[in-house]
Amino acid sequence: MGVMSTTAPRLLQVRRSTRITPRMIRVTLEGAELAGFAGAGPDRRIKMFFPVGGQDRPAVPRTTSGGPLWPTGEPRPTIRTYTVRRFDPTAGELDVDFVLHEGHGPAAAWAREAQAGAWVGVSEPGGRYVVDPEADFHLVIGDESALPAVATVLAALPAGVPAVAYLEVADVDEEQELPGGTGVHWVHRDDRSAGEPLADAVRAASLPAGRGQAWLAGESACVRDLRRHLLDDRGLDRRAVYATGYWRAR
Ligand SMILES: Cc1cc2nc3c(=O)[nH]c(=O)nc-3n(C[C@H](O)[C@H](O)[C@H](O)COP(=O)(O)OP(=O)(O)OC[C@H]3O[C@@H](n4cnc5c(N)ncnc54)[C@H](O)[C@@H]3O)c2cc1C
Repeated sequence: MGVMSTTAPRLLQVRRSTRITPRMIRVTLEGAELAGFAGAGPDRRIKMFFPVGGQDRPAVPRTTSGGPLWPTGEPRPTIRTYTVRRFDPTAGELDVDFVLHEGHGPAAAWAREAQAGAWVGVSEPGGRYVVDPEADFHLVIGDESALPAVATVLAALPAGVPAVAYLEVADVDEEQELPGGTGVHWVHRDDRSAGEPLADAVRAASLPAGRGQAWLAGESACVRDLRRHLLDDRGLDRRAVYATGYWRAR
């Protein structure tokens, strides 16, 4: 989590928040500092800087020739990684979808409480995922925390190439409308541990023939396990498997 972009974080404000499922909230951000934000494309990741200890705004570093310079005497913000779910430069809006998980994390708590006008810092977007136009099929795997990125990945896949998605959510109420049509398989966690139902479903999946490209993210141990499965048991090429652990079950 130590990656600091070379540009100072943008300070933005909440325009509105919308409950999209019982456990997912969409926070729409706005602000003059959104100008020039490079948020387009699949799987764009941002660091978010949350205020701490009753602050009105988070302390954010200024960019100097000597590196980032933090304001003195102010507590450092809580920093977590999120996904650009939607960036609309015309409307001047940036959507971030937060899982309201039960781990009592500061980022989820901030999203649950965020009122219009609340301040938050957002880094430059990053990310390395590029759709391979030559792939014979696409495989997309994730849990709730990955759904915002999954939506952007599915939207970026070429029409006419088979795309299969396996997505684990708590229950049927957490399913979302996604691009990708009939290739999307929802897996319900119910009372099982995070990642277990997803791992079972992917191992049992029959995949399209040919050379596939895979994108996967979610609970870290599950992602590690499924990455190995795709390389060792399914024969996918190492460079065609794009895997990221998003959070760690304790
Ligand atoms: C590249 C990238 C993109 C991401 N994009 C998104 C996104 O768009 N939306 C999103 O909601 N998350 C996303 N995440 C995951 C998010 O960064 C983590 O879930 C983060 O831990 C949340 O911070 P927190 O302060 O709420 O909880 P933390 O303080 O980090 O954790 C507190 C406790 O909650 C548990 N916990 C954390 N996350 C979850 C979870 N999802 N489900 C169940 N338990 C959890 C932890 O195990 C821990 O015990 C992304 C992560 C990465 C690396």
